[in-house]
Amino acid sequence: MSTIGVIVIELNKRQEKILQIVKNNGPITGEKIAEKLNLTRATLRPDLAILTMAGYLDARPRVGYFYTGKSSTQLLSESIKKFRVKDFQSVPIVIHEDSSTYEAICVMFLDDVGTLFVTNKDNHLVGVCSRKDLLRASMGGQEIHTTPIHVYMTRVPNVSVCYKDDLLFYAAKQIIDKQIDSIPVVVEKDGHYEVTGRISKTTITRAFVSLIEDE
Ligand code: ADP
Repeated sequence: MSTIGVIVIELNKRQEKILQIVKNNGPITGEKIAEKLNLTRATLRPDLAILTMAGYLDARPRVGYFYTGKSSTQLLSESIKKFRVKDFQSVPIVIHEDSSTYEAICVMFLDDVGTLFVTNKDNHLVGVCSRKDLLRASMGGQEIHTTPIHVYMTRVPNVSVCYKDDLLFYAAKQIIDKQIDSIPVVVEKDGHYEVTGRISKTTITRAFVSLIEDE
């Protein structure tokens, strides 16, 4: 998994002052900002770099710095919108539709996942099976060693999916709206889905943590 560099910063007093100066006087050169603050241009360089990288200021050669007009909330949501499914997806755990309920329980334990994606002999996605589906299967009085998992799964086309180029936000929204834990990342071929990845609540939490850790 790779994370995208995101800058979420809290401005210090001097940076706030610079921002105010540029807001009121921009476009303005680094030299002029330094003059107004009675500091040298060199002292200001790191602050100007941070303000520019974070998106508060923009700079044009021979014109100087100007205020982009973006609030920190706007900048944060711009950062989140850069998150794509492909940058955070994890490995999907897949099981064949004819596997027994018992086998499904074992795979779920061994691979430490909460959702299995169910495929047929052609590797097409046919359903998903969650912890609750397996609990239901275990409580139903059916023989878990012989009843195939496809009996208990949620079937395609009732499965929510996403694509690798989707915004991670789109996947997160589906997880919340449909009250599910996980979504398969798929490619569509001849009207069928092939599973290539997995987005789960853990994925979304990881993306949330990376917003701060990459600071
Ligand atoms: P848990 O069983 O741990 O509560 P979920 O909330 O993900 O896990 O599952 C609840 C129900 O939603 C289950 O019946 C499951 O088959 C179904 N489900 C899980 N993921 C999806 C999905 N991506 N699309 C449609 N249904 C799903």
